[in-house]
Amino acid sequence: MSNIPHVVILGGGFGGLSAANEIRNSLSSSKVKITLIDKKDWFMVGFAKLWIINGTRTFENSIGSLNELEKKEINFIKDEIISINPEKKNIETKSQTISFDFLIISMGAVLAPQKIPGLEENGFNLYDHKQLSQIHEKLETITSGKIAISIMGMPYKCPPAPFEASLLIDAMLRKRGVRDSIQIDFYSPAPITLPAAGPDVSKQILDMVNSEKIVFHNSSKIKSVKHKKLIFEDSDADFDLLLAIPPHIAPKVIYDSGLAKESGFIQIDRDCKTPFENIFAVGDVTSLIVAENMAVPKAGIFAEGEGITVAKNIISKIQSKSDSVLFDGKGGCFIESGRETASVIEVDMFTNDKPSTNLTESTSDNLSKKIEFEKERLSKWF
Ligand SMILES: Cc1cc2nc3c(=O)[nH]c(=O)nc-3n(C[C@H](O)[C@H](O)[C@H](O)COP(=O)(O)OP(=O)(O)OC[C@H]3O[C@@H](n4cnc5c(N)ncnc54)[C@H](O)[C@@H]3O)c2cc1C
Repeated sequence: MSNIPHVVILGGGFGGLSAANEIRNSLSSSKVKITLIDKKDWFMVGFAKLWIINGTRTFENSIGSLNELEKKEINFIKDEIISINPEKKNIETKSQTISFDFLIISMGAVLAPQKIPGLEENGFNLYDHKQLSQIHEKLETITSGKIAISIMGMPYKCPPAPFEASLLIDAMLRKRGVRDSIQIDFYSPAPITLPAAGPDVSKQILDMVNSEKIVFHNSSKIKSVKHKKLIFEDSDADFDLLLAIPPHIAPKVIYDSGLAKESGFIQIDRDCKTPFENIFAVGDVTSLIVAENMAVPKAGIFAEGEGITVAKNIISKIQSKSDSVLFDGKGGCFIESGRETASVIEVDMFTNDKPSTNLTESTSDNLSKKIEFEKERLSKWF
């Protein structure tokens, strides 16, 4: 290790930003050098995408600039990471090779619409920031027909988000007075709405969408998309406007480097370690199995918790202390109702012998907490 240890963080999302800030808040630049690399120079809280879709936000007023990190003596490099070399303890970007003493991989999940034939030609990607204003315009002008919201692969980011999207879209159409002439169909490959949250919460989410006349079609495994038609394994369905949640995969550089099998995510445990000394992985790029067929959901709140866990353990190592912590698996995801209230799915993965989840009442207080959640992240990380 050189005199000042160098922590390199790949990806400036929830995981990378929480880790970078946690380390810098404890150790000054004379104790640790921190470099964060991302191919884009902005960060947005995922749920703000739905506010751009419903027109209460614009892209420009929803982002934080990664260039601001320099103020905290966190070096920011805007570049694409093309190789991770665990044995040589370096990474390569398009323009340089960077050595590290500690590496935090927080590169998120990649949206892969190309995996579903016909999707890119015939439907919108609900999670792609470049398509949000177009989706908004479509929803502002549609007057009749069928809107399909379709989950096209598991796991995907923020399991409740597509349901929340359906409720916010319902509200938009109600306000425009066209809801009665538009059908909203929700298709999922899963047997229940939110398998990760269990059958009770899933039933409550089902009741929530049904009460707004959104029709949930379970076990709908997509094969392809044609002009105004979804082709499932054993049926098909018509639509006029398709909003898809495409399959998610790990960035290519992850499996090129041998950290995961093709398209798979990096397997971690609660210590977020990889098989390589001082190389950690957090957030959506990972898979942390909690119980049979159940992994920690891909959500910012968990990426943040894992980022802080890794940061604390790196701080401890730099200070030559022996204490270490494990990711606590606690968090909550908001679901807005479209009626100026929100509920929270509270999750506790590890305290009891099996993961527990609970859906709170939908209140205006929770909606304020959701707004505050975003403000807090943008102000403490930049
Ligand atoms: C509509 C929507 C609503 C959501 N709502 C919630 C919510 O209410 N609560 C919640 O907790 N979560 C929510 N999420 C999920 C949340 O946004 C993600 O789970 C979270 O962003 C994951 O954090 P991460 O750090 O693992 O990855 P990301 O935030 O995706 O960050 C990864 C970063 O790595 C960069 N990167 C990747 N590959 C490369 C490369 N080769 N070179 C350089 N840079 C690279 C990317 O540019 C990106 O900035 C929502 C997501 C969406 C889409």
